Amino acid sequence: MPTTYPDLMADVRKRTKQVSLEELKRRLDAHEKLTLVDVREKDEWRGGFIPGAIPLPRGFLELQAEQKLLDKNARIVAYCAGGVRSALAAATLQELGYSNVETANPGFVRWKDLGFPIETPPELTDAQRERYSRHILLPEVGEAGQAKLLKSKVLLLGAGGLGSPAAMYLAAAGVGTLGIVDADVVDSSNLQRQIIHATSRIGTPKVESAAKAISELNPDVKVVPYPERMTSANVERLFSDYQVVVDGTDNFPTRYLVNDASVWLGKPVVHGSIFRFDGQVTTFLPQMAAKRLGLGEPSPCYRCLYPEPPPPHLAPSCQEAGVLGILCGIIGTLQATEAIKILLGRGTTLAGRLLTYDSLKMKFHELRLRRSLDCPVCGPKPTITSYIDYEGFCAIG
Ligand SMILES: [Zn+2]
Repeated sequence: MPTTYPDLMADVRKRTKQVSLEELKRRLDAHEKLTLVDVREKDEWRGGFIPGAIPLPRGFLELQAEQKLLDKNARIVAYCAGGVRSALAAATLQELGYSNVETANPGFVRWKDLGFPIETPPELTDAQRERYSRHILLPEVGEAGQAKLLKSKVLLLGAGGLGSPAAMYLAAAGVGTLGIVDADVVDSSNLQRQIIHATSRIGTPKVESAAKAISELNPDVKVVPYPERMTSANVERLFSDYQVVVDGTDNFPTRYLVNDASVWLGKPVVHGSIFRFDGQVTTFLPQMAAKRLGLGEPSPCYRCLYPEPPPPHLAPSCQEAGVLGILCGIIGTLQATEAIKILLGRGTTLAGRLLTYDSLKMKFHELRLRRSLDCPVCGPKPTITSYIDYEGFCAIG
């Protein structure tokens, strides 16, 4: 005899574990480890959802479960509007091998009536949903993460070898505001590696050339050009508006200014450098930023490693060195990856780790970096408390 709806539901209820809304709220408040799954339709989701929930409409459950719910042993709580669809969904998930599934009872409508916290999804336009669909499909990004990126602001120091690929990928990813600091104009010898520029823009200021490439790639991105050199006089003004700094500069005076501003203003700096066939990347995560962003332990700062610049006569020669063009692409895109992770609050950053890359041997290595208690800037007894313009390195050499 075919099963009737009441029989089916009675069977499903028997097979699935229910959790009350009060209990669910208690667990969420206590930050208990659980995956909350909203099985309602897209339109219902857009009207609001329980914070932290993953949207997985019941109609797509079998199709998308394994993409969105990677761990079959994770504790999963499904909810819908009233508790029926989520019970059916929980039963289906169990059949798919998920071992620890519960269903909230009743559901979102009652949750809202109780005045429990809800969140409304960010408003992305249809064009943005289409453009960023491959991001949105990643549960670690989703619509909320994409909306976060669109509201994010990254400052790029330099639109050169490292800044070019970093800017292109940050723009493609939909980072909403990109500040670009560069006082140079495009030269034909740049084009072997600085892929944001073009032959037709030789002689144009780099910030202008970069803005043009970015606007053609992604009109969602606002470029703020700073055709100036960074000094102690403007470093705080340049940093103040941005969440993350991507440093692609290659001289000592700037490196120390960037470091000190990063520590004092609490801004994460993703540092990259290149020489011939070798490159390196690390993330400087000052204490204030680590705390604010919930990104774990702070990293050492640049002065923990090199308290002062070398005296000018010992500084590396400023003679132009050769560099394998594509190396810039590798290091610059690693920097962009770090920036995006910081903005999304996902993954493990390179804070406290120096990643080195040898393109000839095609090898990556990692070095641990340690904070120095004697650090003149981030240590407990700082001896440097205002910006220093170190000058003359290259002029002398
Ligand atoms: Zn330090």
